[in-house]
Amino acid sequence: MKVTTRRSFFQYMAVLGLATFTTTPLYAKGTKAQYLYQESPKDGKQCSLCMHFIPESNECRMVEGSISPNGYCAAFYKKPEKNK
Ligand code: SF4
Repeated sequence: MKVTTRRSFFQYMAVLGLATFTTTPLYAKGTKAQYLYQESPKDGKQCSLCMHFIPESNECRMVEGSISPNGYCAAFYKKPEKNK
């Protein structure tokens, strides 16, 4: 794309901004060390009870790498309980 006028410059910047916005994840995962991840539960809190845990793949939305269902980290956030 050749930018020759002020108008085409702003059109180019708008397209570039849209492309960047739509291809960049809104969050990035952190390392296990950053989140103080441990392989064992803490005070009854564990990954299998956390809303960030993805049981199908043993992954986490916040922490990189393979995650144990019995693990725990500082980003623990309890899943809401289902209505009975
Ligand atoms: S945020 Fe922490 S506690 Fe929750 S699933 Fe991920 S690693 Fe486990």
